[in-house]
Amino acid sequence: MMDVPLTVPTILERVRTLYRDREVVSLLMAGRDQGGAPVAQVHRTTYGEVARRALHLASALKELGVRPGDRVATLAVNSYRHLEAYLGIPSMGAVLHTVNIRLHPDQTQWILNHAEDRVLIVENLFAAMIPSIRANCPKLEHIIVMGAGGPEGTLDYETLLAQASGDFEYPDLDERQAAAMCYTSGTTGNPKGVLYSHRSTVLHSLASAPKDALNVGERDVVMAIVPMFHVNAWGLPYTCAVAGAAQVFCGMFSDGVSVARMLEQEKVSITAGVPTIWMGLLAELDRAREAGQPYDLSRLESLVVGGSAAPEALIRAFQTRHGLTLRHAWGMTETHPIGTVSVMPPGVSLTSDEGYALQAKQGRRVPLVELELLSDLTDDGRVETLPHDGHTMGRLLARGPWVASSYYKGEGQANFIELSGKLWFDTGDIATLDERGYMHIQDRSKDLIKSGGEWISSVDLENALMAHPAVAQAAVIAIADPKWDERPLAVLVLRPGQQHPGHAELTAFLAPRFAKWWLPDAYEVVQSIPIGATGKFLKRELRDQFAGYTASGTAAR
Ligand code: AMP
Repeated sequence: MMDVPLTVPTILERVRTLYRDREVVSLLMAGRDQGGAPVAQVHRTTYGEVARRALHLASALKELGVRPGDRVATLAVNSYRHLEAYLGIPSMGAVLHTVNIRLHPDQTQWILNHAEDRVLIVENLFAAMIPSIRANCPKLEHIIVMGAGGPEGTLDYETLLAQASGDFEYPDLDERQAAAMCYTSGTTGNPKGVLYSHRSTVLHSLASAPKDALNVGERDVVMAIVPMFHVNAWGLPYTCAVAGAAQVFCGMFSDGVSVARMLEQEKVSITAGVPTIWMGLLAELDRAREAGQPYDLSRLESLVVGGSAAPEALIRAFQTRHGLTLRHAWGMTETHPIGTVSVMPPGVSLTSDEGYALQAKQGRRVPLVELELLSDLTDDGRVETLPHDGHTMGRLLARGPWVASSYYKGEGQANFIELSGKLWFDTGDIATLDERGYMHIQDRSKDLIKSGGEWISSVDLENALMAHPAVAQAAVIAIADPKWDERPLAVLVLRPGQQHPGHAELTAFLAPRFAKWWLPDAYEVVQSIPIGATGKFLKRELRDQFAGYTASGTAAR
């Protein structure tokens, strides 16, 4: 067979030629109303136009001196312009580095510096960040602003595209070179970069589309609500482009009302987001139905849910109250992300008790992904693989053509382990696998909290809290939260003779260093924090101790 390289230009060429009339719809921010609330405006274009502009972007970057392998960062919401960057940047050989828009500015700058980005494409919504980025990121040579109103010294995205030559020629690309990169929160220390190759991007798109994966085809209209800075919006912009599905982007409008309206108005058939988004949507669907004005979501076939566990109650509520099916999937930044999808085996009805129980599991591995369960160290210092019996819990290992084999710059090597001559990635999740292959996440060994689909580093908060004069020890754990899934609770041991400094003082102490939504919902004082044999806090015991805890006066995010 021919050895044809699997590269992003093949995706760009597919939409440019085959699917040029398929629509790409974006909800943009048109301004603010008198009360300061953002006003939305629908923008319509086609794949043909997106492809044309992506090629102009590729030309423009080349003319700016961007070379193959250079990193080009984006700080942007989901929209057709971000899709242009997805297609144009890798197609000229550079690396699309999508940066999380919700980080504390110090963290954003640390990531831009670590990645050594040469160009930043930033949405005008985030223009306020530009001066400090410019002052603190010396390797950044150009800042391109999408949308009007970029400050002096920046380049205007539209002008750049208009001036760029349209006859761009694709460079020779090696399918193993990087097409994109994302940073993930490190359990210890700083975030770590994951590079996605052209090959893994194309293979992941092909593996995500089939019926028993995300079921994406040309007749679909797909709205990825999961941010495009988060694992390439679960790869959906590329999957849809390969399949020819129309794409809808709701930008910064991910509240229940905006989402419900867009799903109805654009006749969306597949949508994807974290459980927090679906809880907001459920509340709006319930409200509308009770008011006698239900939305018409008859085209909606599935709501892909991942990023955190989808509770069975949520899956049942959508199905029984609105006839809508959640499709539970699991993955990670390091797995591009699709690892497993929960679809029913033959003979099991979606709406039976067995069906609901299976849907609450994270599902079965998609083709080419392998999963294994590993024991902790045994008494004689070995590790062993564990049975797939549905109840033995172990550390979940993954391998496959779209699973990372290392982090950027070779960091975090301890997460990559060799077993019988094969490389595996240690996910940090604790799971069971049953005889049919259904994986069920039980716990997390990584010391992180996932709130509304985004990570909070407990270690960073602990280190900061332990610098407070009243605090001797601090352990930050996740507590269950009905809206955000998890929120941080700080458990403190005070220095002798010290009083509880109080919620307000501790919040003020942490606030300058962390994004607002990172700040703990509560600070509880205990006599001692349980410590294990290796001297680490036994967070699992603390989590048991505070199971069912609710923070009175929960802080708003
Ligand atoms: P990220 O790299 O930010 O995408 O986060 C990946 C992590 O999110 C996984 O290792 C899990 O801990 C968690 N996660 C993702 N999907 C699910 C899911 N369906 N159920 C439970 N946890 C999940």
